[in-house]
Amino acid sequence: MSNRVCHFKLVLLGDAAVGKSCLVVRFVRDEFFEFQEPTIGAAFLTQTVQCEDATVKYEIWDTAGQERYRSLAPMYYRGAAAAIVVYDITDPDSFAGAKSWVKELQRRGDPNVIIALAGNKADLEQRRKISQEEAESYAEENGILHLVTSAKDGTNVKSLFVEIAKKLPKNP
Ligand code: GDP
Repeated sequence: MSNRVCHFKLVLLGDAAVGKSCLVVRFVRDEFFEFQEPTIGAAFLTQTVQCEDATVKYEIWDTAGQERYRSLAPMYYRGAAAAIVVYDITDPDSFAGAKSWVKELQRRGDPNVIIALAGNKADLEQRRKISQEEAESYAEENGILHLVTSAKDGTNVKSLFVEIAKKLPKNP
């Protein structure tokens, strides 16, 4: 069986403190820190997942969520094959923020960009403010993936990257 290695640029977008850096650290190093250092500008990491007969190598740009860095975002999503837009299931403002990132990506990102919405902090179920139904119907209307994740306990983190990999064009 052939095993091609396909490289894809992937960007994480979303409000500050929704858990973007923690999701990346969980995916790349399988670790979690309660006091993750804030990202300045953007951070770059790589990780691979196996998808059918291809190895998908993600080149991951984790962007800072603060408003003052927003104008830098196009530099990171330009040319990205995939984008993970993260919100915090306990924070309705972050869901509104995620919707505005999705809109921006659909208007100004690559026309074929695969967008995945990640409702993070699933371990805080008792404090949930955004229902699964609300997020899922939004994702469906917009033709994007949606997964509920927890960087803290690892729920769905690898699945998020695997589901995206399934949708990426792995041409020989
Ligand atoms: P970013 O600004 O979006 O990159 O957010 P960070 O990754 O820096 O995380 C912000 C805060 O949320 C940190 O205190 C993390 O420990 C916490 N956090 C991140 N992911 C989770 C999660 O899945 N569950 C819980 N309970 N806390 C999380």
